[in-house]
Amino acid sequence: MSLRLYNTLTRRKQDFSPIDAKDVRVYACGPTVYDHLHIGNGRMLIVFDLLFRVLRRAYGAEHVRYVRNITDVDDKINARAAERGIPIGVLTEEMTAIFHADAAGLGCLPPTVEPRATGHMAEMIEIIGRLIANGSAYQADGHVLFDVPSMPDYGRLSRRPLDEMIAGARVEVAPYKRGPMDFVLWKPAAGDEPGWDSPWGRGRPGWHIECSAMSWRHLGEVFDIHGGGIDLVFPHHENEIAQTRCAFGHQVMANVWMHNGHLQVEGEKMSKSLGNFVTIHELLTSDKFGGRSWPGGALRLAMLRAHYRQPIDFTVKALEEAERTLVEWRRATDGVEPEELAEDVVAALADDLNTPRAIAELHALKAKRPGALLGGLGLLGISFDGLPAESGAQPREGADFAAFMGLIAEREAARRQKNWAESDRLRDALAGLGVAVKDNKDGTTSWEFRP
Ligand SMILES: [Zn+2]
Repeated sequence: MSLRLYNTLTRRKQDFSPIDAKDVRVYACGPTVYDHLHIGNGRMLIVFDLLFRVLRRAYGAEHVRYVRNITDVDDKINARAAERGIPIGVLTEEMTAIFHADAAGLGCLPPTVEPRATGHMAEMIEIIGRLIANGSAYQADGHVLFDVPSMPDYGRLSRRPLDEMIAGARVEVAPYKRGPMDFVLWKPAAGDEPGWDSPWGRGRPGWHIECSAMSWRHLGEVFDIHGGGIDLVFPHHENEIAQTRCAFGHQVMANVWMHNGHLQVEGEKMSKSLGNFVTIHELLTSDKFGGRSWPGGALRLAMLRAHYRQPIDFTVKALEEAERTLVEWRRATDGVEPEELAEDVVAALADDLNTPRAIAELHALKAKRPGALLGGLGLLGISFDGLPAESGAQPREGADFAAFMGLIAEREAARRQKNWAESDRLRDALAGLGVAVKDNKDGTTSWEFRP
């Protein structure tokens, strides 16, 4: 498989060739564990999990190292723990456990390494020490700051003029800063705040330095691919690059920079104030979005139907369509063994993860090579787990397929919680739509239309 990837650094699609084909090294910025992850974070998890799977296929599973960190020291964490009146460690453990369940629910493999920022203070202190020693950083008023003007080609990734960056970043004005773009590497910790001893006093790191430290420790001074959401290009990735390059003296931090596009929900930017903020946890386990919970495979397919660099509009309709497609594919592959992948599917994914084309190829395989369809779903990480049961009966003309599949899924959930009254109510609702369900002790085994 020869892989081509779009590189944000060069703004071009390029042939990918790893520094060491026996040890392909990838870093993606993971979550700050202070709250549930939203579905925009879910897109990033899915996109870079797919990249991981495609690289494993191309180079061998044992030759790909994927590092996705956990940020467990951050002002947002401190604030949330105080708000909830719980210790910081309790909050970060709770949110990390939910994050792991979310990622598994979306069909993501565990990364090769999942470092935590709090386990990498020595590396952060080492990098900051180097930056001070070579004139890239300075101490002021208990803080250590990166001296942006000391780096002549700062801004190469985002390619924005300095004045635009200053406006875009809404930079914090602080009396101890020499320049408006200078950013914090280390800051003092007040008495009750978490802090670590350092040559600059007891304090805690800035966000950007955490990723420079974890990627250095686990992937080295220069590695192959660095990824994240498009909103991280500036300032986070720009600042990671500045720290790592100036500390170690290389022309790049990573050869390829990959960024997934924005996600909006039902045509609007997702925000808590608009009331359309939806978490992965809610999608998988509650009825908050579209009045029902959704199988992880449907979430993943709905996401991958858009190319990862394009913006995506996440809608109930798209989830219904994805679920309907998966139910059809499950029916078409019933009793079939997975086969070697179809070349067209592999070729589409090798072309900068062109998932819309790969999925179109899967549709074409449904009738003639269902085994290859199954193989392709395996590579995309899409499973049939949690799909509503069905008997293979075709929906009647005009039947609201999505509505009754939703009711079947809801009834399954009610039965798992032993809520028999709700289960009976939903059975009646389904009967009203002309659908009869059959159960055994493990759950709903089939449904059929009764004229
Ligand atoms: Zn990062």
